[in-house]
Amino acid sequence: MMIPFDEAVRITLDHVPRLEATRVPLHAALGLVLAEPIASDVDMPPFDKSAMDGFAVVASDLASVPRALRVTQEIAAGVVPKAPVRPGQCARIMTGAPVPQGAEAVVMVEHTRPGPADDEVTILQATERGRNICRQAEDVAAGDVVLRAGHAVRPPEIATLAACGRAEVSVYRAPRVAVLSTGDEVVPIERVPEAGQIRDANSHYVAARLARLGIGATLLGIAPDEPQQLKAALASGMEHDVLAVSGGVSMGVYDLVPGLLRELGCELFFEKVAMQPGKPTVFGRRGPTVVLGLPGNPVSVLVATELFLVPAIKRMMGYREVNPPRRRATLTGRTTHRPGRVAHKPGVLAEGEGDGGATVEPLRYHGSAHIHALSRSNCLIVLPADEPALEPAAMVEVVELRV
Ligand code: AMP
Ligand code: MG
Repeated sequence: MMIPFDEAVRITLDHVPRLEATRVPLHAALGLVLAEPIASDVDMPPFDKSAMDGFAVVASDLASVPRALRVTQEIAAGVVPKAPVRPGQCARIMTGAPVPQGAEAVVMVEHTRPGPADDEVTILQATERGRNICRQAEDVAAGDVVLRAGHAVRPPEIATLAACGRAEVSVYRAPRVAVLSTGDEVVPIERVPEAGQIRDANSHYVAARLARLGIGATLLGIAPDEPQQLKAALASGMEHDVLAVSGGVSMGVYDLVPGLLRELGCELFFEKVAMQPGKPTVFGRRGPTVVLGLPGNPVSVLVATELFLVPAIKRMMGYREVNPPRRRATLTGRTTHRPGRVAHKPGVLAEGEGDGGATVEPLRYHGSAHIHALSRSNCLIVLPADEPALEPAAMVEVVELRV
């Protein structure tokens, strides 16, 4: 039975388990999702801190400028001030150094000149209280939660975690993913295909796409359309958290994958989705193991990977937002498809000129096998199931192809 696309996505996401939390060294957390809230153990800034190289002053001393002040101390970053600053005095201070007691502002060095006396500086510009001082705890107070569980760790989060002293952090672990291609005609990329053969594009696409998520997939190679060998390959793939298998899922005599998955104890939740391309996409589970059967055609693999495999894996990794970003854009060309199934057609999305709004141009390609045409695409144009054709200037939804 063919099920609607939205329902297929929902069923998939409802049935993938979130993986368990694990403690990892800070750098290993990149690309993973926090499994614990992170509270800071320190104030940020940790003390009233100078934002400039200059002179820490009593603001009321500068009622009229130029004004000469006596320089009573020098405070470098990392140094604790020896004495307070009193009216008529100032401290030479460096960026990041603690502001001494009594000082109310820092005048940047560019607004001063040395002298007239050896131990003096002349301030050329007035200032106001608080200028160029970062107040203790103005960003974060000790004990504040700075990142919540469920927050994905990108480079800025690494900086925050480092500032909080988190050399180790608890994250949801990444799934171990096996990738299998199937088909008697499919040969490894090192081989020159003979009559009737085709090189394996799918394994490499899926592995590359998952690498973007920080996942190093295990490539199981190519299994033939021969039940015993194919079953053995599927079985070894199912030892992983996720098996992504391409080919062998359509209606041909040699499309054995769904039947063999069942024999291996896999519960299949759907085997056909009302979408184009990607109709024979299969989703199943055996215990904690998630299985996605992708159609054989490389364009279908790209679409089904983006719309099913990546969201499923992100859900396992604890991401809150798992579906690819969507936006609206104005179509610049005509596009048609067979009604009854939602279509995803490759397009080139561009930011509009002047009055704004994005435009999207349907990419000319010959069908599901024409993968190289997609090198130009940066989105999938969504054509609703009930609209057989869309004309230029129509507003359409697009799925962005990003990380
Ligand atoms: P299937 O779903 O097995 O019927 O395959 C559909 C189409 O995709 C056929 O033309 C296959 O030759 C092609 N195909 C299957 N697997 C791959 C692959 N790994 N790389 C490139 N093309 C493939
Ligand atoms: Mg096949």
